[in-house]
Amino acid sequence: MADFTKIVDGLYQINGSVNVFVLDDGENGVTIIDAGMPRSVNKIVDTVKAIGRTVGDVKYILVTHADIDHIGSLGSLVKATNATVIAGEKSKPYIESRQAPPHLPFFLKPIMWVLLKTMLSRVTVGQTATHGERLQIADGIRALSIPGHTPGNIGYFWERHKVLFVPDLLYVNDNKLGLMPSIITWNVKIAKDSVKQVMKYNPDYICVGHGKFIDVKAEPEQVKNLMASL
Ligand SMILES: [Zn+2]
Repeated sequence: MADFTKIVDGLYQINGSVNVFVLDDGENGVTIIDAGMPRSVNKIVDTVKAIGRTVGDVKYILVTHADIDHIGSLGSLVKATNATVIAGEKSKPYIESRQAPPHLPFFLKPIMWVLLKTMLSRVTVGQTATHGERLQIADGIRALSIPGHTPGNIGYFWERHKVLFVPDLLYVNDNKLGLMPSIITWNVKIAKDSVKQVMKYNPDYICVGHGKFIDVKAEPEQVKNLMASL
């Protein structure tokens, strides 16, 4: 059963321990942002169908970073949809070689190596996104370099509804928007700088990889408290 929440017209968050976003731009097709944990392809496909679209409508899959919980079903999703994968140029080699990007504590590295090699199918990144590039998707999605959690994180800013996607630079824990824990952060100082840069876009919605999305107009204190914490 599909379990998702509407964020704004044409945008849905698939609920789970890690979020996947489905952006429906009518005749121009469907874009998926991040590909979730391994074995979540059915959940994603069910959501696409539940909003009245078909797998053939999915044209692009935008990837924020190469962690297993964000690209776990990327290979099977490409197989199901034939969509083009877009990712940052620094994440591309990690995605294609199925290796974790730098940021994990040493004790997690061996188990992650095994999981990546056994649970993920091979995938090719069809297009790389560079900082500031405006993707011609749904009237414009800006790719933004947001290093910190990993060196190659890319955020996306959908201009039509001022939606900022920032997995896993930020997350929402205990109903509070904040930086990801430092133990799984590549560089905390760089992460803080990325937050300051990206907030200049004044998003109306902030979508994270873990936790609920933030409706900034309804909860302005979330951004205020975040900025004060940097
Ligand atoms: Zn991550």
